[in-house]
Amino acid sequence: MTELLPPIELTPPDIAPYRRGNTGIDHVTTLDGGRPGPHAVICALVHGNELGGAVALDRLFRIGLKPNRGRLTLVFANTAAYRGFDPERPYASRFVDEDFNRVWSPDVLDGPRDSVELRRARQLRPVFDAADVILDLHSMTADTAPLVLCGQTVRGRDLGRRMGYPAWIVADEGHAAGRRLIDYAGFAEPEGDHTAVLVECGQHWREETAVTALESCLRFLLVQEMIDPAWAEGILRPHDDPQRVVEVTEAITAETDTFTFNAPYVGMEIIPRAGTPLGRDGARTVVTPYDDCVLIMPARRPKSGQTAVRLGRLVP
Ligand SMILES: [Zn+2]
Repeated sequence: MTELLPPIELTPPDIAPYRRGNTGIDHVTTLDGGRPGPHAVICALVHGNELGGAVALDRLFRIGLKPNRGRLTLVFANTAAYRGFDPERPYASRFVDEDFNRVWSPDVLDGPRDSVELRRARQLRPVFDAADVILDLHSMTADTAPLVLCGQTVRGRDLGRRMGYPAWIVADEGHAAGRRLIDYAGFAEPEGDHTAVLVECGQHWREETAVTALESCLRFLLVQEMIDPAWAEGILRPHDDPQRVVEVTEAITAETDTFTFNAPYVGMEIIPRAGTPLGRDGARTVVTPYDDCVLIMPARRPKSGQTAVRLGRLVP
């Protein structure tokens, strides 16, 4: 089956100039604010085909961003996958051997298993161990409104709120298949002072997605009081959409390889009535379990055993 590819509006930036960095780890650069403050880490390319974050970090370097306190570390994560990006096969370079965003538990990182992604994760682990706060930049397959994934901590949700953008904040539990970076170690502990959020900045290859990624970086740094608000205002666009918080309640897992949705959902649709059919999975009709059910990041073509869509409730 041939499938129409979405337009590739973004050009993958040349990240070779950032390879040497200044930390002894390839593609990791720390900018010193010269005064005490938090250690903030912004991470792009956890998924090798998600170009928006890389474009945003390249912009930050080019505009000569310097924090005015603390330390800011900029990370291009899965550079091996990124090197394989091919606009003719843009989905293929998400990872080399395995999903880089499912390996972030100590037992996996300390374990005997080996892969391109695990080697890189073990290299980067000290960076995240030394971080107070992490912004992880991602993007999505569908043309979905940007959203913050804040995990389950109050701290993550609060950081999303203080950033004030994107308009959707999604509190979720992560994936059974393995831990995400934002769920690593102290970042997911209910108590503590380490905070991590992930921003899904829009569709992988849209120009707008890179703009959202850059704005997310600046808003994240404003919350950390690491950049000058007046300077940032010259770059940021005004957003007055009120933020809404969704708590993920469940995942719909495909039981067959023929799961199909009844409509071309892209995510963040609010389905008013409980019992509304969403799609078919073999002989099963999948329906919404409650009123005002929010659809979160429906999968493009879920296979048996994979998450087809997650469902969430709006919370005050
Ligand atoms: Zn991603």
